Amino acid sequence: MTLNLRYDQGRVRKYHYFLLLSLIQKYKRISRSQLAKLTKMSNTGVGKIVRNLIADELVIEVGQTGGEVGRRATLLEINPTGSFIIGVELDINGIQIAIVTLTGDVIRKKQFPFAADQEPYMLLDQLGQEIEALLKQMDSNINKKIIAIGISIPGLITWPDGRALRVPQFHWENIDIKGYLEKKLDFIIYVDNHVRTVLLAESLYGSMKDYNDSVCIYIGSGVGGAAMLNGEMLRGHRNTLGEIGHMIVDPNGAMCDCGRLGCLQTFVCSSELEKQAQLPIQEIFAAFNRKEDWAKRLINRAQSYLGLAISNVICIYNPEAVLIAGPMIQEFPSLVQDIETEVNKYIWAPLNHSFHIVYPEIGRDSGVIGASALVLNEFLRFSNDEV
Ligand SMILES: [Zn+2]
Repeated sequence: MTLNLRYDQGRVRKYHYFLLLSLIQKYKRISRSQLAKLTKMSNTGVGKIVRNLIADELVIEVGQTGGEVGRRATLLEINPTGSFIIGVELDINGIQIAIVTLTGDVIRKKQFPFAADQEPYMLLDQLGQEIEALLKQMDSNINKKIIAIGISIPGLITWPDGRALRVPQFHWENIDIKGYLEKKLDFIIYVDNHVRTVLLAESLYGSMKDYNDSVCIYIGSGVGGAAMLNGEMLRGHRNTLGEIGHMIVDPNGAMCDCGRLGCLQTFVCSSELEKQAQLPIQEIFAAFNRKEDWAKRLINRAQSYLGLAISNVICIYNPEAVLIAGPMIQEFPSLVQDIETEVNKYIWAPLNHSFHIVYPEIGRDSGVIGASALVLNEFLRFSNDEV
């Protein structure tokens, strides 16, 4: 895999260069001697590479700290304006495009509506034009520092070739998003399922920063999941790892939109609850908050199955933290009010209380920031590929 870096390619594609960059990203502020200690490199070796990182404007020197034996050491930090990433969120409620810094800040954003009846490649044409128009408005200084484009989309996406095999919400099948857009735009493009981008964004910039072993459970109009072990995103053979919404939890349960009975999402996600109650989700939760029996039964059952699913996921991946995210959680936090108790009710005893339940920190821009995190993550893990 190669990155379309607009730097001196020969120099930047070196293992230690990305290794130090990823450590500076991870520790936020770190000195040269701490880097040398962590990597077991010599101080001179670290000094040389840091000089290159600073010359390439990816790293800056900030403040000083008391070093060991009273010596003061200069601290290094990622240069937020050294490079930029274009983050794109494709969502049924609208398409967002943003220019995002390496520290996860959005500096420019635009959006256009998703037209459900639009032919997929026509929509990608429009997306390409919108990106080009946004770039034209930007200062050329920023323009030339853009390293790649990340796209977040719900559905089954192949990796690394970025083909949308199935996006039920859009009625898309087998759409070559990456290949098509790369021909139109002069950038490398990364495309992945939105749940993975949510977990990546929180891991790089948000509430999951301190956890190397983590899973994400995402609840919206469906249920999805993602897992990272040792800081690496797990994808599985077909990049579908974490699709827990279609785990059958009751073979005699309700019919799922996948054609089978009793998938997890038939108990938990908004569209299924609406189908079963014949009411909009807002009204279901309003009745639940009024403690109406039928709504309590429905939501308590959802909580119970969610607790069961999370405890099973913990059994498989043994994460330190479980990120619970998605529109259902944002809009109806009462769905997960006692989720930890619920999980501990089902979990295998040795794993009792072995995990933290964590909620997202990144707000409404999480889609585009997540898409940019997908690029940054590939950029940083480059050091692993080069070993
Ligand atoms: Zn299903």
